[in-house]
Parts: sequence; structure tokens; C-alpha cells
Amino acid sequence: MHFVNAKGLLTGRHGFFGMNIYRGCSHGCIYCDSRSRCYQFTHPFEDIEVKQNAPELLEKELKAKRHRCMIGTGAMSDPYMHCEEELRLTRKCLEVVHKYGFGAAIQTKSDRILQDIDLLDEINRSAKCVVQITLTTYDDELCRIVEPNVCNTKRRIQVLEEMQKRGIPTIVWLTPILPFINDTVENVTSILNECIRVGVRGIIDFGMGLTLREGDREYYYKALDSFFPGMKQRYIQCYGNAYELPSPNAKALKDCFQTICKAHGILSSPDECFGFMNELPEKYTQLSLFDIV
Ligand code: SF4
Repeated sequence: MHFVNAKGLLTGRHGFFGMNIYRGCSHGCIYCDSRSRCYQFTHPFEDIEVKQNAPELLEKELKAKRHRCMIGTGAMSDPYMHCEEELRLTRKCLEVVHKYGFGAAIQTKSDRILQDIDLLDEINRSAKCVVQITLTTYDDELCRIVEPNVCNTKRRIQVLEEMQKRGIPTIVWLTPILPFINDTVENVTSILNECIRVGVRGIIDFGMGLTLREGDREYYYKALDSFFPGMKQRYIQCYGNAYELPSPNAKALKDCFQTICKAHGILSSPDECFGFMNELPEKYTQLSLFDIV
């Protein structure tokens, strides 16, 4: 890893801002979109860029905001990857979010988030905190192949349960669904059953498929060659160089997903899920006179 002093941290517009404290990721997911060439990495993806001044930058940027809102993290790199263990920059940033009364929406695959559960609980009590966990593969053997350097699905479900016990709402990202690999009704229903059992608020799917583009595609195909002989050729035959690779079972999977979510009152469209995540209740959005002086 290497350290930089960033010029700014928050991106986005009024109502929702995101931050990436790290650039690159050590979790090794074979399908990772963040590897795509369009993001113009000037360093190897695993050589994590650490924005060492992130907490100070965040403090400056939040201080200058006139309205409170939700602050997201985890869209481009996992905020709880290995180096967080030692650096605790995600935690320090969340402390700043809490100090200024903002809400937090955190996306991760790692059980390291549990080390901050007390802080997340406090943010949720004083404003709002939403924890988002990605679940793609119920079979933990398969999970070890497609997401090799992070805790398995069983453990991530335990994380969801722990959040639930504290009353911290959770969203599951059921994506990507890899054609011919995890695109079975059995896989999707097994994950959904766990989501129902632990009481997740919403589930985001993006059409029951995968996206691939330059940079990401090469890495994925290399993994297919190592773990699924002959699969790369099958992909090339079915999808050529397409960006979107919907599963041939997409309709059946989507029907099953919608039916189960509706039956159990789980938010199931990206709009509903993002609407829930991005909303900070009004009583928290107004700064009081005391806050301004
Ligand atoms: S956790 Fe996310 S950012 Fe990290 S390798 Fe996996 S998909 Fe990429």
C-alpha cells in the first residue's frame, strides 16, 4: 500500500455524498468492476492507495455543509479491507460523521465491520446508519473461489444478524449473478431465505447478470481459466465482448426474487432501496443554531 494526501474526499450532490478512503482493494473478487480500465488506476489494484488525510478532509467538508444528509462509503473499494485492521481510517471517518450528526450508509463484504458496531449503533441512534452486505453465492466453497480474500457468505449472514440485533437496518446486494456459475434458482432462494430469516430491509439486484469491461474482463477470464476450465470459451460464444452479460436464467431468477421479496415485505427495486438508504429523517437534517455557532 502507499499513502497520499488527497485534495478532496466527498463526491456527489446535495442529499447524498459518497467517500472512498482507499483506492484499490485486497478482497480479490474475480468479477470486480473497480478494476476496469475506465477508472484509470496508475498503480496496481492490490497496491492500495490510502488517503491518509481522509478524516481531516472529511471534517473540513462536513463542517461546511448547511444540511445534514447520508454519507456513503464502499462503492469503489471495500472500506473494511485488510489494511483497515491496522489503519482504522474508516472508523476515524465514521467518528467524524457521528460528530457532525450525519448518517452513514456503508457497503462491505467483510466481518471487520463488527469491530465498529458500537459506533454504528450510536450513529443509528443519533441519525441513521444502514449497513449493506453483498451476498452472491450461498455455497461457501464457491464463495472461496469467487471472493477469495474476504469472509464467506455464512459469516456475512452472521454480520447481518448482529446488525439486526442492534436495530441497524440492512440492505443486501445480490449481485453479480455469474452466468453458468451461481445463476441457479437454488442459489438465489437459499440467499433470500437467509435474508428473510435475519430481517433485511431491502435487496438490490441489477438484472441477474454480470457486467464486464476492459481490465475487469481480463482478470475475470483468467480466473475462469484457473477454476472453471472451458467456461471462458462459453462466455465468448454467448456474449462476445458485451458489457452486460445477463444470465440465461435471468427471467426465472427475477420472478423468484420478486415473488419472495413481495411476499415478505422486502424492498426489492434499486429505486426503493436507494430511496430508503439516501433518506435522512427530517429531524436530523436541520442544523440547529447551536450547531452553527
Ligand atoms: S470487495 Fe468490492 S472492491 Fe473489493 S475486490 Fe471485491 S468487488 Fe472489488
